[in-house]
Amino acid sequence: MRENLIFRENPARVGELVGSVPVTDPAGVDEVVHRADGAFREWSRVPVAERIAALRHAADTVAARLEELATLLARETGKPLADCRGEIGFAVTFLRWTCDRAPAALASVEVDDAAGRLVVRRKPYGVVGCVTPWNAPIILAMLKLGPALVAGNAVVLKPSPLAPLTVTEIAATLPATWVIHGGAETGRALVGHRLVRKVAFTGGDAAGREIAATAGAMITPSVLELGGNDPAVFLPDFALTGADYERLVMASFATGGQVCMAAKRLYVPRARSTEFVEAYLAAAERVLVVGDPLAEEVTMGPVISAAAADRIGALVAASTGAGGGRAVPLGRSVPGHDPSSGYFVTPHLVIGLDDHAPLVADEQFGPVVPLLVYDGEEEVLARANAGELGLGASVWSADEECAFALADRFEAGFVFVNTHNRTGMSLRAPFGGVKRSGYGREYGKEGLLEYVQSAVVHAPAAFRPGGGGMAAGAYPG
Ligand code: NAD
Repeated sequence: MRENLIFRENPARVGELVGSVPVTDPAGVDEVVHRADGAFREWSRVPVAERIAALRHAADTVAARLEELATLLARETGKPLADCRGEIGFAVTFLRWTCDRAPAALASVEVDDAAGRLVVRRKPYGVVGCVTPWNAPIILAMLKLGPALVAGNAVVLKPSPLAPLTVTEIAATLPATWVIHGGAETGRALVGHRLVRKVAFTGGDAAGREIAATAGAMITPSVLELGGNDPAVFLPDFALTGADYERLVMASFATGGQVCMAAKRLYVPRARSTEFVEAYLAAAERVLVVGDPLAEEVTMGPVISAAAADRIGALVAASTGAGGGRAVPLGRSVPGHDPSSGYFVTPHLVIGLDDHAPLVADEQFGPVVPLLVYDGEEEVLARANAGELGLGASVWSADEECAFALADRFEAGFVFVNTHNRTGMSLRAPFGGVKRSGYGREYGKEGLLEYVQSAVVHAPAAFRPGGGGMAAGAYPG
């Protein structure tokens, strides 16, 4: 029988094959999950210090191959080479951080006192089924694999068929880890498997709802990291340097805007909007350089697929003309760049829309950003909090106290102050959404604790030898 393969092409060079992986059909998923379940029984009994040593070894192996892996990642995703180096380097840093923090986070609580003897253990779930997207395929996998493995779980990972290659190489360095390939059908077989004891998903709304329903029907706990439509709010006293504007531009356009926590709506005070737009366009001209991801000076490559390019092109078209907006092209291309060589989309700032426009109301997930003006603080807060998504947000102000005070009133899981997107992340800060952006957290101690459940052994004082028992109807203290 011929093997069913997924072929991955380079989105910057249409027709250039980067590699292929075999599709795992539902029977194959069942076999892999059974194997992982068997391995879980061994791996969970390995002392935590040895598990940590194995993960540190994997981190060192990946770090030593960083350049080769970054090039492969750039070729399969269209992300600039420097970003790919950064993503893999960050995944290594995260894995090492997880190893550093695991002993304290996973330690049992043991008490032996007048109330009795109590042990609270942090136990792994079993097989963790991970389903991940293509836009940051390494870090989004490592955020699940690192904490799950160090806690003694086994992992079956189903990466996106749009970025399956580099993550497969990296997963091969990790113990108790299996990778399966395919689209929704393979994902469904994994999430709905009776031996999968925890599900971790990052991706879009439609898949998220289905996965939550399947996991719910199985009583399988899940972590869901879904989309966002992050507002960036500039208070009337904002004081941005040229470097701040450059950071802001990349907060929207890194990875061609295909980032869950990108700055997706810019809210600027009406009185300062002309000044803002001028400085923004100048900054974009300096830092937003479109071209082949393997060219060192490039900061924005193509989008992931022809379908994504078409969808974003249609969104820009619908926002202008009768849509009421004016689309201003941003940045520049490397000399000699041929946009027809791949799925390139010209980045745009769109001015003059109202909040009902699809570009404002929905997650665009591409290189086009609306700039909106506002007149008052309560008004902008209500507009920023409108909608069903609540992943990230940002507040920009010269007065940090004002920024923090307003930040507390955002309906978002993570509010950045005077920055946005990955420059505002921290290993110690739990990340995740509120409202329909999902539930559960990654990063921080919370991210480590997602992959353990507490299990108790308790001898109440009353029933220990010589304890004297408990009066009928009494409750323990
Ligand atoms: P997607 O939902 O289309 O696919 C994500 C993964 O789910 C892929 O591996 C896909 O094959 C699989 N899948 C799809 N349908 C499935 C089903 N019914 N059952 C099981 N698996 C299924 O998302 P995408 O296009 O790869 O990624 C873009 C989305 O991800 C955006 O909405 C973005 O905001 C979101 N995202 C969120 C975060 C976060 O941390 N919150 C991070 C990155 C991306």
